[in-house]
Amino acid sequence: MKNDILKMAYSPENFRKQGHVLIDQLADHFNSSINRESEKVIRWSPPEDEYAYWKGFLKDGKTPKLFPEIIERSIHLHNPKYIGHQVCPPAPIASLSALISASLNNGAAVYEMGMVPTAMEKIITEFINSKIGYDENSRGFLTSGGTLANLTALLSARKAILDIDIWNEGQNQNLGIMVCEEAHYCIERAAKIMGLGTKGIIKIPASKGFNMDVSLLETYYKKALKENIKVFAVVGSAPSTATGMYDDLETLASFCSNHKLWLHVDGAHGGASIFSSKYKHTVKGIQHADSVVIDGHKMMMMPTITTALLYKKGHHSHTTFSQKADYLLEQSEHEDWYNLAKRTFECTKTMMGIQWYTLLKTYGEDIFDENVTVLYDLGKYFGSLVSDHPDFELAIEPMSNIVCFRYITGSKDTTELNALNASIRQHLLEDGEYYIVQTKLRGIHYLRTTIMNPFTSKKDLNGLLKKIKSIADNIRI
Ligand SMILES: *Cc1c(COP(=O)(O)O)cnc(C)c1O
Repeated sequence: MKNDILKMAYSPENFRKQGHVLIDQLADHFNSSINRESEKVIRWSPPEDEYAYWKGFLKDGKTPKLFPEIIERSIHLHNPKYIGHQVCPPAPIASLSALISASLNNGAAVYEMGMVPTAMEKIITEFINSKIGYDENSRGFLTSGGTLANLTALLSARKAILDIDIWNEGQNQNLGIMVCEEAHYCIERAAKIMGLGTKGIIKIPASKGFNMDVSLLETYYKKALKENIKVFAVVGSAPSTATGMYDDLETLASFCSNHKLWLHVDGAHGGASIFSSKYKHTVKGIQHADSVVIDGHKMMMMPTITTALLYKKGHHSHTTFSQKADYLLEQSEHEDWYNLAKRTFECTKTMMGIQWYTLLKTYGEDIFDENVTVLYDLGKYFGSLVSDHPDFELAIEPMSNIVCFRYITGSKDTTELNALNASIRQHLLEDGEYYIVQTKLRGIHYLRTTIMNPFTSKKDLNGLLKKIKSIADNIRI
């Protein structure tokens, strides 16, 4: 009996049938999303309702309905009116390549458990490194997300910069990193995991322009030294998550070189602008960074979750988790690049190299330029649309595809406007035609959009402002 269940579960014919049906369902879904035939990006339901629905479904639901139900009840990133968080609608060929990984399950912790993705990973990271402007000493690998990649990079930094062997002996010094207060929360989390404590996260205030006020670096550094904190790294955001503003990487690089500090660039979102001939100026100086993070699932059209972590001096990527003294590894001529788990946090990971390789092989590097350029152009367009509109105000002129703005008509009182904009966002969420998010900057509540879908049109963006205006009119009867 049991045997039959297993036979069914592994039946190639069932897979073939179900697979064909599923691919058709997904293709129909992409079609109706991209062509705006579906009315809603999201059919929002409160968490308790969603829980109850799936609990009931488990008992009563029939398997054939399962996949369509998942598609229907999910948020639809391929809909051009999805303008919310920074996750991309994956290019379908990249999704198909991820299916190979999900099917073959080559875990890649050791070379022969993932020969194909291991080789591809080397090719891909060499390609990205050349785009960054690194030389042949550089190296990199893929890992599961920007959060994990940032932590890994900071571990590498600590090992490379400090002459104490913390990995083996632990430590009781005060260590620190410097980072803009606007950086992604995962940097602080990484620092806390590393035991730096609150005082080890030296937060440099942001300038008026919401990026790091680099004129304060020296002052904060000296203050840290006085307090006996040994700073080992500076993290630059490319760009920061809330507002999409890039830190001045050139200035950070010269500061780090003067003080012999590690420069890490968190380009999880917008490091991909290295591919855009029009926007690569946003990451000017990135080639001086000791390490760089770029997410595949944000600006590079891939399914979650895959992130490139690149090192200017490749040998640093080999010493992060090594038990041996660094000099032994640095001296070894043949670091085994093909045993990836020695360098990554993960043991088993997905065959993520395939997704990058497939896009590059199928469409060439131009596709990355095109995607970043189209999305950043749309961000600029939306910025000017907002600033030209009398009912709206920008938080800051956008540098990327992230645009923060708010509705300002009818009151001059910050508290009232904050409540109004929060209510607008809740109405939008429950309405579901558009999906956008929100953020608080210096006490002011903003609506926040990230244009992730290259098929979002100027008409869609105009329509969003119109919709918000009509919601606002209805709220304040
Ligand atoms: C998204 C983001 C992260 C986190 O990356 P994940 O891939 O979601 O773990 C870190 N830093 C920045 C700047 C980001 O935009």
